[in-house]
Amino acid sequence: MMKSEMENDILKVLVTEEDLQRRVAELGEALYQRLEGKNPLFLGVLKGCFVFMADLVRACQLKCDVEFMALSSYRNATVSSGKVEISRDLHQDVAGRHLVIVEDILDSGTTLAFLKDYLLFKGAASITIVTLLDKPSRRTKAITADLAGFEVPDEFVVGYGLDYCQQYRNVPYIGVLKPEVYSG
Ligand code: 5GP
Ligand code: MG
Repeated sequence: MMKSEMENDILKVLVTEEDLQRRVAELGEALYQRLEGKNPLFLGVLKGCFVFMADLVRACQLKCDVEFMALSSYRNATVSSGKVEISRDLHQDVAGRHLVIVEDILDSGTTLAFLKDYLLFKGAASITIVTLLDKPSRRTKAITADLAGFEVPDEFVVGYGLDYCQQYRNVPYIGVLKPEVYSG
């Protein structure tokens, strides 16, 4: 086992590295079936997407390009403010493109509902939403993912790109932090 400074802060593992790898391979295959010949643009939602997206585009051997946006409705807290801000906008025209939105977790749905509308307004030909994690119990917006890796319970999770106060993104699995990490 590799040494980890962060291990002591983890209460439990929800999704192991092996399960992540297996599921990402399945998602890559499913995307290939859907989008073969369409030269899709993979659009990652920063920063949480970065680990998942790197694995997903390699698990999916489509001819494609990649783009990123940064959106925030979270302010270093574990609850959403409900308002979405674009902090990094598109750097290219997406009109007529088949887009694959890559998100770390679909929670209230505020972020993706906003993003989907925005991309349709920009003229996207189609939008496929892929989220690694889905917390359907917390949804307040009428939005569903086309492909979801794992359903998770109503707990704040970290790892595989997901942070708490910008930390723990490099934990290689999905886990829950000990309560004292939040209070401390
Ligand atoms: P939504 O707009 O769907 O409520 O929230 C989406 C964003 O909130 C996600 O992209 C993610 O950045 C953040 N988020 C929601 N739940 C969690 C969680 O359990 N852990 C972490 N690290 N971020 C979360
Ligand atoms: Mg996110």
